[in-house]
Amino acid sequence: MFKDSYKHQGKRKQLIEKLKSKGISSENVLNAINQIPRHLFMDSSFEDFAYQDKAFPIAEGQTISQPFTVAFQTQLLEVKKNDKILEIGTGSGFQTAVLCELGAQVFSIERQQKLYKSTKRFLEKLGYRPKYLSFGDGYKGLPDYAPFDKIIVTAGAPFVPKPLMAQLKINGRLVIPVGEDPQIMTLFIRKGQSKFDKHTFGEFRFVPLLENKN
Ligand code: SAH
Repeated sequence: MFKDSYKHQGKRKQLIEKLKSKGISSENVLNAINQIPRHLFMDSSFEDFAYQDKAFPIAEGQTISQPFTVAFQTQLLEVKKNDKILEIGTGSGFQTAVLCELGAQVFSIERQQKLYKSTKRFLEKLGYRPKYLSFGDGYKGLPDYAPFDKIIVTAGAPFVPKPLMAQLKINGRLVIPVGEDPQIMTLFIRKGQSKFDKHTFGEFRFVPLLENKN
């Protein structure tokens, strides 16, 4: 039903080389991305461009993140098998799939209902099994399922939501692009109840993390 041709696989190999040349060194992350048919996560009219290192529009005015950005954020997370990971902004589900490939238990929140529904169905069809996909507000995190080993935010956050800090385990990692436009990629490592180490990694551009009106 879903076609992943030699041509797609060949282009994917080239994308992996590109990511390496841009400084992605984690073999686990590169292997995971090499397993995933990114062209299926996008509108078929963009299929020929799926393995360029670019972001593309998806439904509901949202985007599928640039492969380099996905790789960079995932590398910062230092994912280990069975890690409990919360993702904010399910979107196309591509980042969700990367975390699943790495053997994580993935929880993900999306605020656009149509996108939430279509991506849930699509990931099931592809055979990915995230632990829980939630339709809701990422600013609140998922208190019922906390704490998490890692949290990844895939939309631009004007500030760091307090609930996300609170839902991180000690020694847990939160990767979040912070700011209006552009955002600064930021890694927080929780060192104690209220002690966080902070590291920054330069400018990125994301669609905004929106607050829910309801
Ligand atoms: N991880 C996605 C990136 C999608 S873009 C991928 O790999 O394709 C960011 C997503 O965050 C969008 O789908 C947007 O609808 C969603 N989003 C924005 N604000 C949100 C919020 N407050 N809670 C949950 N999701 C949100």
